[in-house]
Amino acid sequence: MTDEAIAITGIRKRYGDIIAVDDLSLAVKTGELFGLIGPDGAGKTTIMQIICGLLSSYDGDCRVFGYDCRRELRKIREIIGYMPQRFSLYPDLTVSENLRFFADLFRVSPDDRLKRTERLLAFNRLAAFKKRRAGDLSGGMKQKLALSCTLIHTPGLLILDEPTTGVDPVSRREFWEILYELRSEGVTILVSTPYMDEAQRCDRIAFVHRGKVMAIDRPEQIITHFDKTLYALTSHDLYNAFLSMQGMGAVESLQLFGDRLHFTTPSFDHVKQELDQRGVAYTEILEIEPTIEDVFIQMMQRSLSSG
Ligand code: ATP
Repeated sequence: MTDEAIAITGIRKRYGDIIAVDDLSLAVKTGELFGLIGPDGAGKTTIMQIICGLLSSYDGDCRVFGYDCRRELRKIREIIGYMPQRFSLYPDLTVSENLRFFADLFRVSPDDRLKRTERLLAFNRLAAFKKRRAGDLSGGMKQKLALSCTLIHTPGLLILDEPTTGVDPVSRREFWEILYELRSEGVTILVSTPYMDEAQRCDRIAFVHRGKVMAIDRPEQIITHFDKTLYALTSHDLYNAFLSMQGMGAVESLQLFGDRLHFTTPSFDHVKQELDQRGVAYTEILEIEPTIEDVFIQMMQRSLSSG
């Protein structure tokens, strides 16, 4: 087996005038938990659809464990488990019946189906709910059932498109524990997420914007891509501080981050002067380490200002 689970070379996909994926190359190693991060419309779903063999008209080459995603579809479907953003569970079927439906769809033999269903129900902690209609499950449980249906044919590569969006924090954590277990069993996982704490949990992440990869690295390394000094300002009147700083010539970039403002400047002294002149109340200003989100915002702003 090749060392690369996914090898994408020079992919370009257009929808009329829209370039959804723009000369993108990316490699995911076997056994890796790899995150695709990017704003809405960045091209993440399109990339996943190409990998899963759901799109065929594009330029470039895409391979999964060496198999061509355009030409070797039967093999690709065997190897991949794909959980799209809106996974279609059957709300009137029970948990067990949904699993059975997907097992039949993937032609899993009855013996294997029974063994795998039992294991998946235990694994995803859904055994107690196996007779409950899927439509009556909580959001987190629905996602765990969708994941189980995706796993029924024991794929070696799991493609998950924003699987935890809208799911409560506890269920999100449980979902990620399941992903870690799968990875420890050797399953390669490509997951897209809008959550920065989830980006932090991946082995490597790629930041995608306007169909291009802006950076690929380990989460702890990606912050080295931030090439400015970053400051954090705290204030009891954060909103007014934000409005005042928006108009300051000495402030280069400014973001509201929870209970503080993150900003960069070519001249810290100038910012302090302007804050004093405008009478902006603040508690303190500290030089801080950037977060993954700071890096992504910086890259996105640069990409937007370069046209
Ligand atoms: P989101 O998280 O919002 O789904 P994304 O990063 O997954 O965003 P894509 O869904 O891949 O992004 O979309 C990339 C671009 O391609 C967007 O501008 C989108 O509007 C466009 N696009 C995607 N699918 C189609 C389609 N079938 N027809 C026309 N345009 C499309």
